[in-house]
Amino acid sequence: MRRLCFTVDLDRDVNDAVIGKAAAISMDRGQGTEPRFSSSEKGAGIIMDLMDDLGMRCTFFAEARTLRKTGVGRTISKHEVGLHGLDHEDFTGARTKVMLGHGEMREITERAMVMIRDDVGRSPRGFRSPYMDPNEEMLDFLHEYGIVYDSSRYEYVSRNTDVRRSEAYGLMEVPVPKAEDASGKTITSYLWPMHEGKRGYRDFVDLGNRIYEGTYVVCTHSWHMAETRGGGVMDAQEIRENYDRVRSVLSDLIDCGYVPQTCEEAVRGTLSRA
Ligand SMILES: [Zn+2]
Repeated sequence: MRRLCFTVDLDRDVNDAVIGKAAAISMDRGQGTEPRFSSSEKGAGIIMDLMDDLGMRCTFFAEARTLRKTGVGRTISKHEVGLHGLDHEDFTGARTKVMLGHGEMREITERAMVMIRDDVGRSPRGFRSPYMDPNEEMLDFLHEYGIVYDSSRYEYVSRNTDVRRSEAYGLMEVPVPKAEDASGKTITSYLWPMHEGKRGYRDFVDLGNRIYEGTYVVCTHSWHMAETRGGGVMDAQEIRENYDRVRSVLSDLIDCGYVPQTCEEAVRGTLSRA
């Protein structure tokens, strides 16, 4: 069986890390770096339309602040909602040089879990670290908060790329594939370069077709449905064209025999086979 897990990081608009601050900012468009949420909110709505259009469910990895600020919790609750930090923290400190202590990471986790549960009506089961850069100490305690899987690591794609049990943290692992394309350039299943006009949708269908049996995790950001880093806020036509490209990735994969599932469903399916 081939499972297609479409995942959407519900982030503040065009998020960025800054030295000296664990929380993420939004890219400065001339009005400062205070986090903005309008493209993320709009993008979440566009994703909802797309999921209805294709008759499928997806997984949102929500930073709790953005979930609260956009007010989309109830709307997206028909999909899976996982955890993506409270304020899009850089948990390893690699980008911000802020080293969060063990207690601080637990406090952030607890607060974010409560906010997401309140807004969505269910507790997250999955985790994706901001920047795809998890702190190992944090992975080690996440199961205490009801998290059952992590999807924060890239892994070279193989014929059998799939969900699996991670030895180290007591979590299931839902890997995000990467590969070298025909010209030797690295590609991951983040649709980022497609939104920014640097790759076509077929690149992401081809990547999925390197998996013969297993799970293909495709990733994007809510804001990336309504704004690009290079081009700013999209107009109506750009939104439609961007929507069509994302739709093409997903519908082509479904035509290739991929069955859409949430990450949680893929994890449960793997557990029941074990
Ligand atoms: Zn993120």
